Amino acid sequence: MKHLWTPWRSKYMTEKKDASRCIFCDAAAGSEDSESLVVYRGEFTFVILNRYPYTSGHLMIAPYAHVCRLTQASEAATGELMRLVRRAETVLQRVYNPHGLNLGMNLGEAAGAGIEQHIHMHVLPRWNGDANFMTSIGHTRVIPETLEQTYAKLHGAF
Ligand SMILES: [Zn+2]
Repeated sequence: MKHLWTPWRSKYMTEKKDASRCIFCDAAAGSEDSESLVVYRGEFTFVILNRYPYTSGHLMIAPYAHVCRLTQASEAATGELMRLVRRAETVLQRVYNPHGLNLGMNLGEAAGAGIEQHIHMHVLPRWNGDANFMTSIGHTRVIPETLEQTYAKLHGAF
């Protein structure tokens, strides 16, 4: 299980060559939420699909503010972030009916952050045996639906 948070990292590492760009800031500033995969916008934070999901329904919740540590985010933002984590739990439970959920935040590259400049909380549904299955087939991921399908379901549910 020690590799739980790493599957998406390699792709981010190869994609973040342009250090001046931040996918969270770009998505937050964009107007085409269905293209940038923003499923919900709060006052201080927003919910976005992971473009390289570990499993269907893999969400990330981030503040609009470009900060690299939780302590740099405002109280209002961290409060809303946790409220949206709760909402994500409810939504994912209703839409995907998983056996469990992973919630996690990696602060700094040493901690496994794919995009260390902008904090984000991962929320993803899990099923009994999915990790064992992952291990047996290496890095192959089983994604039973397209990102567009996931977006439609979760955008509607939020
Ligand atoms: Zn940013």
